[in-house]
Amino acid sequence: MMSPPLGLYLHIPFCRQRCDFCAFYLEIHREGRAQAFVQSLIQEIGLSAQQHIAAGRPIQSVYIGGGTPTVLATTQLIAILSGIRTHLALASDCEITVEAHPSTISEQDLVQLLQAGITRMSFGAESMEDGDLARIGRPGAVCETVTAMTQARAAGFTNISLDLMYGLPGQSLEGWQRTLAYCLTLEPTHLSCYALTVEEDTRLASNIQRRRSPAPDEGLQIEMDEAAQRMLGDAGYERYEVSNYAKPGYACRHNLLYWTNGEYLGLGPSAQSYLDGTRFGNVADLATYDTSLAENRLPIADRIRLSEEEQLRDAVIFGLRLIQGIPTHRLHQHAANYGHAAITARLLAQQLIEEDGERSRLSARGRLQADTIAGQLY
Ligand code: SF4
Repeated sequence: MMSPPLGLYLHIPFCRQRCDFCAFYLEIHREGRAQAFVQSLIQEIGLSAQQHIAAGRPIQSVYIGGGTPTVLATTQLIAILSGIRTHLALASDCEITVEAHPSTISEQDLVQLLQAGITRMSFGAESMEDGDLARIGRPGAVCETVTAMTQARAAGFTNISLDLMYGLPGQSLEGWQRTLAYCLTLEPTHLSCYALTVEEDTRLASNIQRRRSPAPDEGLQIEMDEAAQRMLGDAGYERYEVSNYAKPGYACRHNLLYWTNGEYLGLGPSAQSYLDGTRFGNVADLATYDTSLAENRLPIADRIRLSEEEQLRDAVIFGLRLIQGIPTHRLHQHAANYGHAAITARLLAQQLIEEDGERSRLSARGRLQADTIAGQLY
């Protein structure tokens, strides 16, 4: 019997500086700490393989995210890839993505990454207007995104994604439409469009509290979401998930794993895994992570085994975000398990969830309230 797809996520916990809105676990990049981390990560890959956490199954997708993976030297990234190949089995058509901040990569780096087997680059553009970037404390300039895209193409990459955010302080609907139009001229194969959310304990949250920055306007964010759907749809991109658009054949295989309740192994500080009905996560502290691996122990901080009902709950909540949706009988089974029949009936009556016979999914309006609906179905 063929085993289901397995993904591998690596969290590189370094950035050159922290953007105002970012709440990810990360450290400011220092060469010495980065070198120690690379050794720890390769050690973790080897230990995970020895302890059969991935059970020798071929890995269909690798996603190197963070943080900013490309603050590491390209030789360090290639050493990590080589560690993966030594200890784990990669499928022959494995999708291997590296996230990059456009200012941290050169054409030479891109050529080397392609030669090392990276198949997909994902650039964190955030906006194509320098004023927007300045207002969210995101270092760098729009021209660096344009250069990175051009150089990635020249290096030979054919699968390139851009990450964007909307609803930024001071951003108008017209400004967002200009960003989208500019991105379309760069012809990425994939676009992620995330509504800005204000995370606790970030500089943005503090700026909003002190009235130095306006809070996101939900009504405007909905208009921006609709504009993205219209403009990107007209340009031939398919919205395959709440925040993700791709040219046909370019949906991100790794991210699809999360939304189809697939299995993945996460390595690096704070990385999360889901294998064999169990969710487990690594310690979110680089020093503790390094110490644990120096002592030959996996740095797992918490582990929870999900019941069958909880596995179905997660599959329903994630799967409704996809345009392909989920089998309708699974939605109703989950509603019966959790006593959510009335809530589900209301979401259907309000046309926030739509059913077309055998499949159910969030409607266009439901996608705009995806997180609220997930909370109601939890
Ligand atoms: S570059 Fe990305 S990961 Fe790093 S601080 Fe900014 S948003 Fe966070």
